[in-house]
Amino acid sequence: IISKFPAMGTNIFTVMSSLAAETGAVNLGQGFPDFDCDPKLVDAVTEAMRKGFNQYPPMTGVAPLREAISAKVEALYGRRYDPAAEVTVTAGATQAIITAVLALVKPGDEAIVLEPCYDSYVPNIELAGGTVVRVPLTPGSFRPDFARIAAALTPRTRAIIINSPHNPSGTVWTRDEMLQLQDLLAPTDVFVVSDEVYEHMVFDGQRHQSAASFPGLAARALIVSSFGKTCHVTGWKVGYVAAPAALTAEFRKVHQFNVFTVNTPMQYGLASYMASPRPYLELPAFYQRKRDLFRAGLAQTRFKLLPSEGTYFQCVDISQVSDLQEAEFCQWLTREIGVAAIPLSAFYGSGFDQRVVRFCFAKKDETLRSALDRLAKL
Ligand code: PMP
Ligand code: GLN
Repeated sequence: IISKFPAMGTNIFTVMSSLAAETGAVNLGQGFPDFDCDPKLVDAVTEAMRKGFNQYPPMTGVAPLREAISAKVEALYGRRYDPAAEVTVTAGATQAIITAVLALVKPGDEAIVLEPCYDSYVPNIELAGGTVVRVPLTPGSFRPDFARIAAALTPRTRAIIINSPHNPSGTVWTRDEMLQLQDLLAPTDVFVVSDEVYEHMVFDGQRHQSAASFPGLAARALIVSSFGKTCHVTGWKVGYVAAPAALTAEFRKVHQFNVFTVNTPMQYGLASYMASPRPYLELPAFYQRKRDLFRAGLAQTRFKLLPSEGTYFQCVDISQVSDLQEAEFCQWLTREIGVAAIPLSAFYGSGFDQRVVRFCFAKKDETLRSALDRLAKL
């Protein structure tokens, strides 16, 4: 067969999870919790199924969930999105992002990604026929470099994909950084795809800065989030996009033909669950404690800890531990030490080696302790 994408391989999360399963390693690679969600959420979904919410929902998502999303975004970030015209329920953030890219980017357009970036962004732009423009985040700190972003903007730039809190580095953009982006884009027609899936996992009293809170960004932004992260249900694949009506209309033109709708009972279950106790408010403290437990253990090893301001990821520099190239190191660590991690090279184009790997700490304390016991040898 003549491949349309000969260079596209299997994504790193699949590769490392398979290797972890095969070798019996503790899987701190792929980002997902190894603990269950709140049983009340399962009850809410079960009840929705029993009530007969088992057929196609509206293309845009069920009304109670769109209303709950709108209420949450307004309460936290101060901008009201009309649930009817400006909020769309998606099959996770993955489908939200590719749909946004397909809706905006056409052949001849450029789209900017800030590297390292989540592994779907670049293939999404390529699938749309766009030209990928890679702008590095500042080496070491992983903070946005506005001079380099400014230099990458051209009349053909159609979109920029941003991601804070940032996977893999755990960096959280400050208010000042969001303002700088807003100023930079003010004279342009560039759209922003703002991947905010870790919006509720920000530590040490810092606050998530949503593009929704910055009028000049919100007017041009598709804001993406995921209930998989927020409610510990990555396998349910439910997320959303909030965007001004004209942008949402473009988004839905594609959405209706690449997924059409998202499973109905999960939507009703999430709607009732999100409405009452505001479960996401507990997440910063919940994950900060796990981060601190994990960091305290890693501090006993020769890994050099990088900051983790948000997300459920912790990056470490491996230079003092091994001479192996980072992808090989992750294979070795999984097979020989029994802990799976993700090499940062997976978040870059080819030829990159920064000596950094990523661990996921969205795990039971006992899982983290078991991984730390194994890593203590290093
Ligand atoms: N964006 C980022 C930055 C992510 O880390 C993830 C989850 N790995 C996604 C998007 C995809 O989210 P979902 O599982 O809801 O499709
Ligand atoms: N978002 C998760 C991560 O970064 C994994 C998602 C996936 O498996 N595609 O680890």
